[in-house]
Amino acid sequence: MSQYEHLQQAAYEANMQLPKLGLVIFTFGNVSAADHNLGVFAIKPSGVPYENLTPEKMVIVDFEGKTVQGTLRPSSDTLTHAVLYAHWPEIGGVCHTHSMYGTAWAQAQRDIPIFGTTHADYTTVDIPCAPPMSDAYIEGDYEYQTGFQIMDCFKDKSLDYKETEMVLVGNHAPFSWGKTAAKAVHNSAVLEAIAQMALLTEQINPQAPRLKNALIRKHFERKHGPNSYYGQS
Ligand SMILES: [Zn+2]
Repeated sequence: MSQYEHLQQAAYEANMQLPKLGLVIFTFGNVSAADHNLGVFAIKPSGVPYENLTPEKMVIVDFEGKTVQGTLRPSSDTLTHAVLYAHWPEIGGVCHTHSMYGTAWAQAQRDIPIFGTTHADYTTVDIPCAPPMSDAYIEGDYEYQTGFQIMDCFKDKSLDYKETEMVLVGNHAPFSWGKTAAKAVHNSAVLEAIAQMALLTEQINPQAPRLKNALIRKHFERKHGPNSYYGQS
């Protein structure tokens, strides 16, 4: 029994959720599950159809992106995952999809405005859209630099990766993360729902105002604050 079996299982289950939730077609998308004590993560192999995936096929990679265990090539986005794990110690899962509505906002290069309480249950800010990558970054180590593009966006906007667990990369698509791979996928599905709702909101009323601050704080804190009362304790 491999010491990485728990990670492979978690990554496998999380990846299999992507087509079920309608977040990916074909082999698009990838999820990883990390163990910071072991300094590795399990990630989907590159280009393998979801129906052919098994837990054993999940590739084990370290936080520099080097394969530690596995014969298949890891996802082409592996270095982006590695950079995020190396710099953000409190995330245990990363998810990347080209889901329809989230990707549309990324292509439009717009933050997703906070219009309602669905959004405020997850974060108090507009979902940030990092600028498109520079030519130098694209021609350099593209996937590696995508990780820095995300982190730079959070630095520039003074955002906390523990409070806002999703981002758009301009011209590209969404990335999300969380304490576990399952939570990262959950956040991807939420991002997609919020992206669709925001688009419809602007279509129905192009002047729709942002959510009031009182409601933003109320909704975020009842779910995440020190005196949260959402769900069962
Ligand atoms: Zn992509």
